[in-house]
Order: sequence, then structure tokens, then C-alpha cells
Amino acid sequence: MGFSDTFPFLHSVSRQRRRREVITDTVGCHQPLPESCDSSGFAGKGPAVTGPPAWASSQSIFESLPEPFLLLVPEKSPSGAIINFLCVYANGPASALHGRTQGRMLGARLLDFESSIDLFEHGLRVMEEGQAVVIEGLGGPRQGDHPSSHPPDIRLFLANGLLCCLWREASQRMEDRQQLVETERRYRLLARHACDVVVEVDRDHRITWASDSIEALLGWPPGALLGKPAISFVHRDDRARALRAGLRLPGPGSLQAELRILCADGGWRWMGGLAHPLPEEISGAGVLSFRDIHDHVRTRTELDQSLQHDPITGLAVRGVALDRIRCALDALEGTGATLAVLSIGVDGLTQVNDALTHAGGDKLMALLAARIVRAIDHPEQVGRGTGDEFIVLLSEPDAGADVTRTAERILRACRAPVSIGGQPIDPTVSIGIATARAGVLPDELLRDASLAMRQAKGRGRNCSALLDDALATEAHTLLLFAAEIQRGLVMGEFAAWFMPIVAFDTGQVTGYEALARWVRPDGIEVAPAEFLPCAECRGLIARIDLLVLRQALAALSRLPPSLTMAVNVSAATLALPEYPQLVGEALRAAGVRPERLHLEVTETALLTVTNRIGQQIQQLASSGVRWYVDDFGTGYSSISHLRDLPIAGLKLDRSFTCAMRAKDTKSLRLAQALVGVAEGLELDTVAEGVETIEEAHLLTSQGWLRGQGWLYGKAAPLRLDSAPVPL
Ligand code: C2E
Ligand code: CA
Ligand code: CA
Repeated sequence: MGFSDTFPFLHSVSRQRRRREVITDTVGCHQPLPESCDSSGFAGKGPAVTGPPAWASSQSIFESLPEPFLLLVPEKSPSGAIINFLCVYANGPASALHGRTQGRMLGARLLDFESSIDLFEHGLRVMEEGQAVVIEGLGGPRQGDHPSSHPPDIRLFLANGLLCCLWREASQRMEDRQQLVETERRYRLLARHACDVVVEVDRDHRITWASDSIEALLGWPPGALLGKPAISFVHRDDRARALRAGLRLPGPGSLQAELRILCADGGWRWMGGLAHPLPEEISGAGVLSFRDIHDHVRTRTELDQSLQHDPITGLAVRGVALDRIRCALDALEGTGATLAVLSIGVDGLTQVNDALTHAGGDKLMALLAARIVRAIDHPEQVGRGTGDEFIVLLSEPDAGADVTRTAERILRACRAPVSIGGQPIDPTVSIGIATARAGVLPDELLRDASLAMRQAKGRGRNCSALLDDALATEAHTLLLFAAEIQRGLVMGEFAAWFMPIVAFDTGQVTGYEALARWVRPDGIEVAPAEFLPCAECRGLIARIDLLVLRQALAALSRLPPSLTMAVNVSAATLALPEYPQLVGEALRAAGVRPERLHLEVTETALLTVTNRIGQQIQQLASSGVRWYVDDFGTGYSSISHLRDLPIAGLKLDRSFTCAMRAKDTKSLRLAQALVGVAEGLELDTVAEGVETIEEAHLLTSQGWLRGQGWLYGKAAPLRLDSAPVPL
């Protein structure tokens, strides 16, 4: 078997090439349309063409074509085999392409004017199969073409038995196709490497395609998801949100939702989902795209957590607790039911802070928070208030008894002894309870509970108090009064008045005690006994103490240097960490020696003295300031304080002087004993409430060194010209 037999196509081509050469030799290339050619509708075999060819009417269209265009008829051998094609029409561009005039193209043989055999061979195929073909890049570069421009394509097709050849500019198509390929490549790259996950779903919301990126992000091989409902990968708690956001395609527009999406390892990852419904004509329902927002959501959640939760106890902060109370109150609307709020105050937190530093106090708060949560069994009902306060919301208390029982349970739970920093502590709390129906403002309810809690503290701590109507009214009055005090302080209605202190032996004024007075705009003088308890419990006392201190020192600076000034200090003021500094500044501002300042602290206040406060007392004493124990003999015995603290003197409480007046021998003996203690400790002594000369004599005989009272002068504003004269 020869080569041609094995490759008949090659055989025929080579044979035809030979034949072409023969024909060229014998017929030449400028022959008119040969008679032997197939008429094919316009050039019949035999006689010459009698009428205009069928395509003649289209000639003007061909002429206007910018692309080369040829019409060819097959030239057949006597055996009927096509051995060449003869040109029956060439438009201008086709003639130019082949470097001939249009006239010279007519009747020219294809294999003569077309250097490549490919066109002939494709022509044969078109003739045999009747199908149009496009021969890409066969057109070869034409004159004037840029070397880099793409060779044109040639489109071959049959029309009325004629072989039509249309050269087509390939560059644009090539560019389009290359662009398409490039775009496809990029999309593939995107799908594989992009951070976003893209999922196509059908109308039943089943996944029909997933981008490769899903494997890197969620661990799913894309193929494993096909056919599964997209929603089945969304966390159960997020499904409603997903559906609302339009992930139940097709839906209107496209919405975004933050969803937890199932990972292949069973974990969940936060993704931002976006649904894009596809146009109607596309049968798929739509595309879901998911962006990885896991870290973002986690950071945000942590931030929210830290903003909404107290870092020490982990409980909701006051604002969040108030919100919960608000929601619970709203839920009561129209039901007639009530809810209860408990304000739980930790007893003696300041002392714990002072003894164990704030870290110790924080530990105690965290521990009590855990105990309260355990006692309530619903952490979300417990919140942290301000300072030492916890808040508990009981949204469905059946009856008042229930609330009280819950309070009792909390009291018991908190009471167990604990050791913090090696120090044994017996923590206790005081609980205030307030109940309300719908329509009450949450902060009013919380305020009422806090007032009841203060009431419980006032009753001796470690107990609960229910805010009844009387207490509520009292609390309300207290609040209004506190607001009045605040206004009075702002308006400068508070002032220091001065009561002389006299030496019993000489009758000379040795100094004054500064006493706070509130003179209201209507001229009414309000005594400390009226406003001090309210100022104390509303946290206003330190402002009053410091105001009196500054005014007293200013007054002292205008008095003879031998005179002293006694100023009262409350427990809250004494506990201010900046108190020594404030006193120092006031002394410097007045230009007064510290030795002239006597600070008076009651026995009761001394009971609250912690190590830190003790150090402050010491610090001021070292600077020269002298400390006096006020109301001595009335409070709890604090003899140990006389030993441990730098006390310079004692002030006998006025009640002893009153009792002496009534010839109460017990008080007389007690006063005698107390002055003995003072003498033993070499302390200065001042007896208060001296109203008669007899009392003065009696006290002098007991050994009291100095006295103050109406006998010597009542408290009055200091006018230097009318300063009380020594007796
Ligand atoms: P205190 O420090 O024991 O002051 C003495 C109180 O007894 C004064 O009452 C004074 O007017 C009154 N008093 C003095 N001698 C007599 C007397 O012979 N007869 C009668 N009936 N009363 C006499 P005041 O000014 O009403 O003060 C009451 C308490 O208020 C003071 O008792 C003191 O504990 C407190 N206080 C006054 N001013 C201040 C202040 O600036 N800061 C603080 N923290 N407490 C103050
Ligand atoms: Ca006093
Ligand atoms: Ca006193």
C-alpha cells in the first residue's frame, strides 16, 4: 500500500497540485471562463453564459464590502473531480489582496492566484459537505498590514452552487476572544483565590455551583455542596435573618445579613451574606456571595461585651440593666402585673478597699456577684449598679412574700465568710426592694430600690427593706431636699458660723469652732441637724465640709495668731484620699499655721478608720494639724484609737453637760472618768454645751480645761469688730 493510499487526502492534494501545474501549463492563467466548468446556476457547461448571472443583482453589495470577497466555480476534470476553482467575481479588496485588477481576477484559477493550497482544500470540503467553514488566520498578511496584526480569517460557504470566499478581519475577533479568555481566566482566579465565597443556587435554593474559595474558608470541597439547600448551612438561630435578608431567592433586590455558616469541621464562621437574584431569562435563581467577617464580628462582639459588661463582675453594666428593666416594664403593659427591682449594696466596701486596696475590693465584688447570680439562678437578671451596688430584676414576682424570700436568700448567700489576700472577711449586703407596674420609669424604680437599700443600711445593714408608701414618700422628700441642698451650695447659701471656745481658768477665748449654716434666700436658717443627714446620704457632705474648712481658715487668718479654729470632719470627707492634700492647700491659701487648725472627728467616724485613713490622719498630724475626738463618750468606746491615732484632745459631748445640769450622778462620774483618761494620755479637753456658770465651775473642778456653749456665745457669722469678747 502506497503513501497516497494510506493518506488519501494528501494523495488527492498532491495529485491536484500536479494537475494545477498541468492546467497552468496548458490553459494558462488568463483564460476566459472555460466551457468545461460546471454551470452551477450561472456558468453552464457547454454554451457560453446567455444572461446575467444569478448573483449579478448582488454585485453592488459585494462591491461595497470592505473585505475581500470572491465567487468561485469548481473546475472539474473529465472524470468529474474538482481540480481547481475559477474566479467568476472578485470585488475590489479581493483583487487588491491578490495584486490583480478585477478584470484579471475574472477566470483566474484559485491555485494560481492563491499561494496557499489550504484555501483550495477547504473549498473542496465545503463543496463536498455543503457546510460553511471559517479558516482562521489563513488570509495571510496583506499589503500595508502591520506585521503584528492578525491574519484575517476566510469564511467559505456555498451560495447557489458557487463557492463564496469572504476575508474577514480577524484582529477584532481575536482581541475579543483573547479578552474573553483573559476575563475567564481572571474569573477563575477570583473564584479560586478570592476571600469571598460565591454560591449559585437554583429556584429551590439548592446549590448548583460554589467557588473554589469555599474550601479555603469553610473547608468544604465545592463539589460536596452541590444539590444541597443553601439554608441548611446557615446557623439555626440565623435562619430567620437569612430569609429576611433575601437569601431565600428569588427575592426583590439584594440584602445583606450577618450569618454563621457551617464549616466542614462542624464549627461556625461569621460571614456577611449578600443575595443577588439573577435576571428572569437565566433559569438559576440567583447568586449568594459571602464575605468572611468572622474576626470583625468577634472583635465587635468582644467590644460590645466589654462595653455592656462590668469587667470586674462580668455582670451587665447599669445602662444595660436599666434597659432590661425598661423592657420588662413594657411587657407589663395592660397586664396589671408588677415586677420588683432589688438594689443590693455591699456593706463596708470602703473599708475593704482601704484594708486590701481596690484589687481586694474588686475581688469581693466579683465574689458577691457570683453568689448573687447563684442565688437568683438567672445571670441575665443581675446587673452592676454604681459603686458598691448590684441590681436584680425579678420580672415575675408572684407576691411580695416571694420578693422578700428572694432577698433573704441573697442575704444568706452573701454572708458566708471569705478570705481575700489572706484576710478573713465576713461580707454582708443590704437590700432595698421596690416594686412597680407598667408606666413607671426604670430609673425611678431603680432609684426607689436604692433608697430602700440605704434605708436597710440605716437599719444596721445585712437586712432588706421594702420601699413602702411611707418610705417612698420619705425617699422622695429626701431627694427633693438633696436637690435643694445642691442648689443652695451652687448659690453660695452655705457658710461657716463660729462658736467661741474659752479657757476655763482664764475665761479667755482660745479659738472658735466652725459650724455649717444654711441661710436660705427667705432668710430662714437651717441647722446642720436638718440638712447634714440628707447631705451625708446623698454624697454632698464633703462639699460642705470643705467649704466650711476654707471659710474657717480664711476667717482664722484674720484672727490673732494665738487663736485656733476647730473644723468638723465627717467620715466621708476623712475617707477622701486627697483629703490631706486639700487641707494643706487650704492652709497655704489662708496662710495659716497647721497647728492652729483643730480637726474634729466623732467617735463614730473613728470606727470607720482603716489603715489608709489612719495614715492620712497621721500625715496631717505630722504636718502640725491637731486632731480632736468629738462627742466623746457617746459613741462606741474608742479608747484604742486614743492610743493608736495621733489624737490631741477630747470634746465631751453636750449630753454630759445637760445631764450634769439635771444632777445626773452617773453622767457626772462618767465625765470625771473621761477627763481622767484624757489627763492620763495628756490630752487637751473641751466640754461642750456649757450654758451656765455653774456648769462651767463644775467642769473646771472636774479638770476640763476649756469649754464652749451658749454661756460664751452661740454660733454666729464672724465679724471681727463684734467678735465675742473673753469673759
Ligand atoms: P458639734 O460638732 O458637737 O457642734 C456643737 C453643736 O452643739 C452645735 O450645733 C452647737 O450650736 C451646739 N451647741 C453648742 N453649745 C451649745 C449649748 O450651750 N446649748 C445648745 N443647746 N447647743 C449648743 P450645730 O451647730 O447645730 O451643729 C450640730 C452638729 O452638726 C455639730 O455638732 C456637728 O457634729 C455637726 N456639724 C456642724 N457643722 C458641721 C460641718 O461643717 N461639718 C460636719 N461634718 N459636721 C458639722
Ligand atoms: Ca464639733
Ligand atoms: Ca460635739
